[in-house]
Amino acid sequence: MRVLVTGGAGFIGSQYVRMLLGVPGGDASGEPTAVTVLDKLTYSGNLANLAPVRQDPRLRLVQGDICDPALVDEVVAGHDVVVHFAAESHVDRSIAGAAPFVTTNVLGTQTLLDVALRHGTGRFVHVSTDEVYGSIDEGSWTETSPLAPNSPYSASKAGSDLLALAYHRTHGMDVVVTRCSNNYGPYQFPEKIIPLFVTNLLDGGTVPLYGDGGNVRDWLHVHDHCRGIALVQQKGRAGEVYHIGGGSELSNRELTGRLLEACGARWDRVVPVADRKGHDRRYSLDIGKISAELGYAPSIDLDRGLAETVRWYRENRAWWEPLKAKPGA
Ligand code: NAD
Repeated sequence: MRVLVTGGAGFIGSQYVRMLLGVPGGDASGEPTAVTVLDKLTYSGNLANLAPVRQDPRLRLVQGDICDPALVDEVVAGHDVVVHFAAESHVDRSIAGAAPFVTTNVLGTQTLLDVALRHGTGRFVHVSTDEVYGSIDEGSWTETSPLAPNSPYSASKAGSDLLALAYHRTHGMDVVVTRCSNNYGPYQFPEKIIPLFVTNLLDGGTVPLYGDGGNVRDWLHVHDHCRGIALVQQKGRAGEVYHIGGGSELSNRELTGRLLEACGARWDRVVPVADRKGHDRRYSLDIGKISAELGYAPSIDLDRGLAETVRWYRENRAWWEPLKAKPGA
């Protein structure tokens, strides 16, 4: 099987590539014989994320833009599956400027879908987010809940998510969509809350806590997200949406407390800052469908996952220090 992974040099895409290539075996079990990464290597794309598999002869790296139809046409040809991670992914950046979000997330996805349709690619896995639903005070969203995104990031993801489903309904393409909660783990660019806070604390600095700190997120280890995507890639029903959640809800204040403790720091290192514009209060996914249909359950509990993650950043300064010094980071 030949798998094309877009955004495979980013946080989650690189975990997926490392996972695919870490599994021995061949076609019979649905495991890959070849993996191509198509990645523009924006500020958050980093070839160091693929260092553990760089020498694997099954891996091909292509630096390029998913919005470039000629390049995408050349790269998609011959692949059985596209797993589409490439995106502009940081909400705060989308508030500062929405244009790259619309370009990459919407137009880039449409470019990929058109090319995959033309080539008759076997399966297109579109990786989306719980943020497309907006905010929920109580209860959890199911896959049929209406989309009501609030940030330019989530609106652009909702656009690409609906386009992917439209290509199934209109053209009969074999499309599956995953919507996932907040990921954490190694190799996450140090702008998102967990790696930002941990690296600031390890450097002896302060951490900015938005508003009253009461915004609630469901946390999922990136390893479990990728296990869920693999199940959907292999066994999900065409045209369906699957939630991948962690079942570990924490307010940002609670999360901050745990990170302070893990880094041996006190609350005087926390600086309250004005709330993010349009900040969603709470996200929560019902994962009954993927559990019942595909046998998915998260395997890493939050205490263990956070402890391992903090240890990883502690032991891998050589990975994150250059990123914090990078212009535009
Ligand atoms: P990331 O920012 O770490 O990685 C994105 C990757 O896409 C980078 O390698 C970047 O270089 C690449 N990219 C960006 N624009 C591109 C373009 N025009 N052409 C080719 N490559 C391009 O993001 P991530 O956290 O790994 O997220 C991956 C996917 O998962 C995204 O689609 C995101 O919406 C989704 N998602 C993320 C989370 C989360 O908590 N991080 C949760 C749910 C869903």
